[in-house]
This record gives sequence, structure tokens and C-alpha cells, in this order.
Amino acid sequence: MEDKNLPSNIGKNIENLKIPENVKLVAVSKKKPVELIEEAYNLGQRDFGENYIQDAIPKINKLKNLKEIKWHFIGHLQSNKVKLAAQYFDMIQSIDSIKLAQKLNNACAELKKIMPILIEINIGAEISKGGINQENLFDLVEHIKSLKNLKLRGLMCIPPFNENSKNFFKKMKTLFDKYKKDYNLDILSMGMSGDYRVAIAEGGNMVRIGTAIFGKRV
Ligand SMILES: *Cc1c(COP(=O)(O)O)cnc(C)c1O
Repeated sequence: MEDKNLPSNIGKNIENLKIPENVKLVAVSKKKPVELIEEAYNLGQRDFGENYIQDAIPKINKLKNLKEIKWHFIGHLQSNKVKLAAQYFDMIQSIDSIKLAQKLNNACAELKKIMPILIEINIGAEISKGGINQENLFDLVEHIKSLKNLKLRGLMCIPPFNENSKNFFKKMKTLFDKYKKDYNLDILSMGMSGDYRVAIAEGGNMVRIGTAIFGKRV
């Protein structure tokens, strides 16, 4: 389902976010129509985030003429969707297992493509949540080193709902700092509409914002 809440305030909304220059804004366009994405693009926004492969592909196809657009996959990646993700996306932010990394690497090798990726950390150690537990991070980053068609750029998280995000962002920054030199990481993706200011204050340099740009999702 897409809601066509036109006309929009996208330009004003993005401006009001006041994202600092050193922070990359990913506009999360899940469940939003191509018209709004195109409008944001025409205002200078280049990076867009989608959660569902099957919803994203028709939009990506329709917007092929926007030459500089970059698509970030930010949802849970099912193994039967890995090939499509490899084909259609420019960055995968939700790698959380060796198996998934291997599959994506194979798919990218077939396409002769190097895929930038982030590892999603289950920073609240929640049972029913995607992401790798931080104890297993070392094994995963080490393994990814051997995968020639993946380029590990950094870490991503979605902190637990209804909790103070700040402490989770602090933990993420500590992890990021621990790994960044040895593994050449440069992206720490954290912060959404409700908490992006806190995320930036705690050292995040990529925020993923949907509602505050495009309005509520139906
Ligand atoms: C939906 C979503 C966002 C954006 O959330 P808003 O609260 O609408 O800004 C960011 N990251 C992920 C992984 C999401 O699924």
C-alpha cells in the first residue's frame, strides 16, 4: 500500500532536519510512492532506503532515469532475496551472519560487482530482532575480509523501541571505534526520525529518516 500524500513538504522537512555536512542522510522511502522520491531527488537528495525487496524493485525500475540515485537496503534480508538485493541495491546495511555475507558475496561475484555493506548489530540484544550480537562481531568482520565482492564500510543499528537510545548509540560508537582502524570502517549508521539528533551527537555519521521527511506511513 502506498499513500499519495501530495502535495508534500519534503523540501522544508529536509531543511528542518538540519543534518550537519559530515553526516549522510538516507531518506527512508518505504511504503512511499515514486512521485515523492523523485521530488526529493529533484531537491538534491540522492540516498534512499528501502526495507522490502519486492516493494523496492518496481520503484527502482521506475526511477532508473535518476542517474545519481543510490538505493540502500535497510531491512531484514531473506536468503531467497539475496540475488535481487545484489542486483538492485547500491549498499546493503543489514548483513548479520557469515552465511548471509557468503551468499551476497556469491551473488555479487556473478554480477561482477563490489557491494558496500554495513553489519547490523543487535545492540539491545533483543531476542526477536535482526542484527548480530556484538560478541560475534569479530568472527564476522574477519570472515568478510576473505569475501572479495563485499566491501565492509561500517556498522548499523536499530536500538530497542521505547528505550532511551543514547546508551545504545554510545555502545555502537565504542564498537565502531574499536574496529574502524583495523578494518578501515568509515560509516556508522544510526538514528531515525525520533532520535537522529542523539545519534549524531553520539558520533553517528549516517542517519536513516523516513517519517520526518515523507510523513507518517499508512
Ligand atoms: C523505517 C526505518 C527507518 C526510518 O524510520 P522513521 O522513524 O520513519 O524515520 C530507519 N531505519 C530502518 C531500518 C527502518 O526500518
